[in-house]
Amino acid sequence: MNKITGIAASDGYAIARAFLLEQPDLTFEETKSDQPEVEVDRLNKALEESREEITKIREIAKGRLSAEEAEVFNAHLQMLDDPEMISAYQQKINDEGLNAQAAVRQTADFFITIFKSMEDNPYMQERAADVKDVTDRLIAHLIGAKVPNLSLIDEDSVVVAYDLTPSDTAQLNHFVKGFVTNIGGRTSHSAIMARSLEVAAVVGTSEAVEKVEDGQTIIVDGFEGEVIIDPDQATIEAYQQKAEAFEKQKAEWEKLKEAKTLTKDGKHFDIAANIGSPKDLEGVHANGAEAVGLYRTEFLYMDSDHFPTEEEQFEAYKEVLESLDGKNVVIRTMDIGGDKKLPYLPLEEEMNPFLGYRAIRICLHQTDMFRTQLRALLRASVYGSLSIMFPMIATLEEFRQAKAIYLEEREALIKDGVAVSDDIQVGMMIEIPAAAVLADQFAKEVDFFSIGTNDLIQYSMAADRMNNTVSYLYQPYNPAVLRLIKFVIESSHKYGKWTGMCGEVAGDQTAIPLLVGMGLDEFSMSATSILKSRALMAKLDSKECQGLVKQAVEEKTTSQEVQELVENYVNGLD
Ligand code: PEP
Ligand code: MG
Repeated sequence: MNKITGIAASDGYAIARAFLLEQPDLTFEETKSDQPEVEVDRLNKALEESREEITKIREIAKGRLSAEEAEVFNAHLQMLDDPEMISAYQQKINDEGLNAQAAVRQTADFFITIFKSMEDNPYMQERAADVKDVTDRLIAHLIGAKVPNLSLIDEDSVVVAYDLTPSDTAQLNHFVKGFVTNIGGRTSHSAIMARSLEVAAVVGTSEAVEKVEDGQTIIVDGFEGEVIIDPDQATIEAYQQKAEAFEKQKAEWEKLKEAKTLTKDGKHFDIAANIGSPKDLEGVHANGAEAVGLYRTEFLYMDSDHFPTEEEQFEAYKEVLESLDGKNVVIRTMDIGGDKKLPYLPLEEEMNPFLGYRAIRICLHQTDMFRTQLRALLRASVYGSLSIMFPMIATLEEFRQAKAIYLEEREALIKDGVAVSDDIQVGMMIEIPAAAVLADQFAKEVDFFSIGTNDLIQYSMAADRMNNTVSYLYQPYNPAVLRLIKFVIESSHKYGKWTGMCGEVAGDQTAIPLLVGMGLDEFSMSATSILKSRALMAKLDSKECQGLVKQAVEEKTTSQEVQELVENYVNGLD
């Protein structure tokens, strides 16, 4: 028995034989050819074969993945047909005399290097994986190598691979109970697909392929990020029990899909979903979200190679509002800067980008793009229930300026006879301690707050959220952080306003009892956390939670003490 660890990428347990995915040998000699027309023909044939193959995989994927995930194969097909890439291959064949496989490899390497160098842009980094996936297939056809076909697996298995490409993942059939990879992180394609397929996954182990032998029994613990190789009988039985308990729990949670979120004593809270694009709507509905509490619109900008036009934005906002069918949708104006960069918006290098020119600071300075976004939002407002919020507000002047621009655009549209809802709420994110401390003043002027704990904690603790070395200071239960949150919620209520939370803390199972005790109105989290949070809330008594809050902020001195306080309480519930 042996254990390796990695990143817990998808909840669940899998106990099965290992299917070691051998990478095809794609090495070849880069020879020159003096018959470019023959090489171009070979290239065209390989393109056609790859096209057929991807189309087939897409069909398999459609039955197994959501439409949106199967969409990745449309992107692959487009990449195969991309005139820029095809003419780059041809140029290398015709001008440099390369054979077709060398032309493809060199072109792919060029694009992969560019995409990978965009370190701050996970989206473009993923595109590098797509280019590799597509061009490897093309090369395999050109050199006659065999690309493994996972859809042929016909007994319960855990796939162990150096990495799983999107096309590998899409071929996983119901015999695949989980997978383990050497590379990848929580946001890699394979991890995202694992969550949507609801199979256990551990990624980024660095050594799975080297340590696991094909056919060995292995256990994947997708909660702890652990892989147990060749377990003894007692360990297998222990995990079988855990797996059964988890299945039972999921069946229980599923029953709450249509339910309202109520505590044991009948107090209602809204559980909303965080989304980054209309593509995430499927998860919103599948998990019974009561609203959208944060639509991070910057992803619309990051997914594009130009500033999205007013029309493009309008379409995206309209789609989300219509889909929510009258449930509230909080759309945040763009939050670019910090770790989110746009290739077409060059910003100066800064010593501390998280303390620099970002979010509302950019919008109030480069108002044209802010106005475009506001117009798109206002026009979309008639298709549902829209709330708009501004990110990274530090001062009242900033909020007033942003709101004034919003009102100007609103008036202008109305004057032009454009239909605009008269029911739009305008609020702000509480991410900066100065705004949290002055929440009682802000509360007089906003319609609502949404607490962004990811930033609020990094600024309160002066600990960069991207820096692993100081990650111990990310302390959601620190009484200092809790006092800020409590004050924000109380201030909003004092003036008849409401407070949501859209940072990761909203879905944190230890924080939830405290937030219930503070009377947080809306909990907005990733869709997959909704049902378990709803289940937890059903066990809580709001009065008891108020007592916990009192102890946490008045008596406790450290994050650890608060954590123990809450966990003891939750463990004592039935
Ligand atoms: C936050 O800061 O908590 C938040 C929700 O915003 P983002 O994570 O997009 O910075
Ligand atoms: Mg933030």
